[in-house]
Amino acid sequence: MERLDKLLANTGRWSRREARELVRQGRVTVDGAAAAAPEEKYEAGACFAVDGEIISGEKRAYVMLHKPAGLLSATEDPRRPTVMELLPEHLRRMGLFPVGRLDKDTEGLLLLTNDGPLAHRLLSPRRHVDKTYFVRADRPFDGADEAAFAAGMVLRDGLHCLPARLERLDCPEEALVTIQEGKYHQIKRMVASQYKQVVYLKRLSMGALKLDPALEKGAWRYLTPAECAALR
Ligand code: URA
Repeated sequence: MERLDKLLANTGRWSRREARELVRQGRVTVDGAAAAAPEEKYEAGACFAVDGEIISGEKRAYVMLHKPAGLLSATEDPRRPTVMELLPEHLRRMGLFPVGRLDKDTEGLLLLTNDGPLAHRLLSPRRHVDKTYFVRADRPFDGADEAAFAAGMVLRDGLHCLPARLERLDCPEEALVTIQEGKYHQIKRMVASQYKQVVYLKRLSMGALKLDPALEKGAWRYLTPAECAALR
């Protein structure tokens, strides 16, 4: 059970304040009856309508998850645990799926939604949505690595990568890497082609969406209306 204003805001269409205003103006019904107060609690599966428009049937959810290592970024797997286990039952029933994949041992920002068109746009190779990762390797990065990433490298298996950015950090084995595409094991393969091995990988951002530093590993939260708007 959740507060009505929160349930309405979860759709990403209104802020909590706007949702409270809608309820106070008598524009919201739940299961056909006028909703009395924004703080009243309901099941997420109830039928909500605003100005007569049913919003439960077309409910969209946008969730940011801080993925821990050890879980697959998939909706289901016959043997291994997936990130869906970190979400509550009502979200799992809404058909959320991860937008793009992180390797099992990769941590960090994972967006989950049931908004297919948005996911398609974010993943489209033509859109070149930047993804930034914190990378730790087994050996120090140097200027030659920066240049190779910037030039757009050709991997040993022949894969042509678009120009990427490698920014060295104070610790010589650590860097921020930004890529515009999302090929299988891409960062690990790019780093390997520079004769180093990734020992830790964490996604920090995807397009305008940044991993909330307050979000503990394994925790999730709904995107704010501003975050939803910035992804469109
Ligand atoms: N690149 C990788 O090698 N692995 C990930 O999980 C993401 C990007």
